[in-house]
Amino acid sequence: AQLYGIQEWGVNYFNISEQGEVITTVESNGKKVSVPLIKIVEGMKERGLDMPTVLRIENLLDQRIKALNDAFASAIKNADYKNHYRGVFPIKVNQQCHVIKEIARYGSHYHHGLEAGSKAELIIALSQLQNHESLIICNGYKDAAFVDLGLYARQMGIPCFFVLETPAELPIILARSKALEIEPLIGVRLKLASMVEGHWNEDSGDRSIFGLSTNALLTVIEQLKQANMLHCLQMLHSHLGSQIPNIRNIRSGVLEACQFYRGLIAEGAPMGYLDLGGGLAVDYEGSQSNSTHSMNYQLDEYCINIVETIQECFDPLGISHPVIVTESGRALVAYSSMLLFNILDVRDHKPGLLPESLPEGSHDLLQNLFSVLKTVKLNNIQECYNDSIYYRDEVRELFHRGQATLRERALAENINLAILDRIAELLPEAKRISHELEDLPELLSDIYYGNFSLFQSLPDIWALDQIFPVMPIHRLNEEPTRDAVIADMTCDCDGKIDHFSSPEGTVNTLKLHPLREHEEYYLGVFLVGAYQETLGDLHNLFGDTNVVSVHINEDGSFEFVREFHGDSIADVLSYVEYEPKEMQEQFRRIAERAVREGKITVAMRQKMLLAFRENLQGSTYFER
Ligand code: PLP
Repeated sequence: AQLYGIQEWGVNYFNISEQGEVITTVESNGKKVSVPLIKIVEGMKERGLDMPTVLRIENLLDQRIKALNDAFASAIKNADYKNHYRGVFPIKVNQQCHVIKEIARYGSHYHHGLEAGSKAELIIALSQLQNHESLIICNGYKDAAFVDLGLYARQMGIPCFFVLETPAELPIILARSKALEIEPLIGVRLKLASMVEGHWNEDSGDRSIFGLSTNALLTVIEQLKQANMLHCLQMLHSHLGSQIPNIRNIRSGVLEACQFYRGLIAEGAPMGYLDLGGGLAVDYEGSQSNSTHSMNYQLDEYCINIVETIQECFDPLGISHPVIVTESGRALVAYSSMLLFNILDVRDHKPGLLPESLPEGSHDLLQNLFSVLKTVKLNNIQECYNDSIYYRDEVRELFHRGQATLRERALAENINLAILDRIAELLPEAKRISHELEDLPELLSDIYYGNFSLFQSLPDIWALDQIFPVMPIHRLNEEPTRDAVIADMTCDCDGKIDHFSSPEGTVNTLKLHPLREHEEYYLGVFLVGAYQETLGDLHNLFGDTNVVSVHINEDGSFEFVREFHGDSIADVLSYVEYEPKEMQEQFRRIAERAVREGKITVAMRQKMLLAFRENLQGSTYFER
């Protein structure tokens, strides 16, 4: 458990059982129950759902909605804040139908709404939210058709806000409002000068591509006054960036937003809603620090900071407390999904068997290498490393020039590997080591080939060097003896995971177990519920994985409430404009010609056509 930091990043949702299996602990009807993930995997197998699979635990999604709303409710109550909290989930963070439906269903107890950044997302929000006290917040560029939809929602009594990203949107909103005779609810998104730490810090500051500058805000106020519509301006919106690791940044951002809010009241806008955007982080690393993959605060602290900052700013001014809105995305959905996959193969970097001594007449360079192997000790590791690499490269050079044989080159590489292996064994005892020796364990680590595509299922690892917790989901009572990096199924050198969180910070290898014959070895990548599914792409034409949603009952049994079989090969081919039927016909003609030319029999033709057809319907991933 220590090795993988599950106690830290798993909050109380994930842990390890006495049987050495990862368990998820959830609430079901007010009762805490734990289920081993491997048991769910067995249930998937029985239902024909092979690896890789995205597993969603519905209870965890509900628990996160509850935790966020309860934490705000309690901060509001304790501070005697005179208004309430309204959360909205940004659809872009996970647009999958089941996720949105569950947020709308369960979130309805808390009037949890939705944030839409496009027409498609507004259509989702309008059709899924049944509770008309829940907010719909429209961000992003809005054309007349987008605005019309939002105005119709207004007419039906849905609190649907248009948040202005640019002054150019206002004339469209005013014109459509006049044409349809429906008054809009308007918000303004401000560019805050407060900068935040972390990866997404470009969402804040003067150069942020989103939001109105102070000057543009004044233009908007003038236009609203001229149109006699200033009373529609009721929301101030700001978003400092996603995954804000440092609570101090949040406090200063809220304070700046409050000053804008105050300024808008002074200009005569009625206001009433303060939307602080997203940013509530997830501790992917479990380090509780202000590193990019972590956070130096807890959920309660986040809520208390927001509530108190608003109060401290507004109370002396006699400004009524606004409705607090946040657009937490990742903090709501990250925990509920994990990617599960099996390991297909391992390539180790162990040296092959070496002879006791070299044959008479072996090349001098090989003899030299061999004597280095015999002399490796703690006090000469750097020297032996240098010599070993030098002699190996000399042999490679001879091979290049045709002066060494294939066998001589293989022997040189093998002896070098044996030397590096011994050096790596001695490294933990060495007092000071050079950078190149520091990298040695990674260089010698095993490559575990996983049945998944990084580009399809974990795109942020490739695009942003994101760290997600990765670990085996079983065999955790056995010591994992191998140091490994994980490669995916694409033949792309970027398709690998070689950064892992550990109690000592980020490391380049992960401890894993040796594979056993005729037994699957399953790994899980955790906290992947935010952004990964739709950002993924079809690199090498690996399609969507299977997706399973499970609800855990209070007696520990579980139901497969949703199951989606991933893309077939025909599906992904049609995404890139192929016509599977036509491809089948083309292949039929090729086979028929081969029969005509006597290269295959008709029976063979039939077998080949069947294989072609079955493959089209099959999975894009490795099938056992
Ligand atoms: N709101 C807006 C306007 C955003 O751009 C984002 C994402 O960057 C979010 C909310 C969600 O942020 P997070 O996932 O950090 O909560």
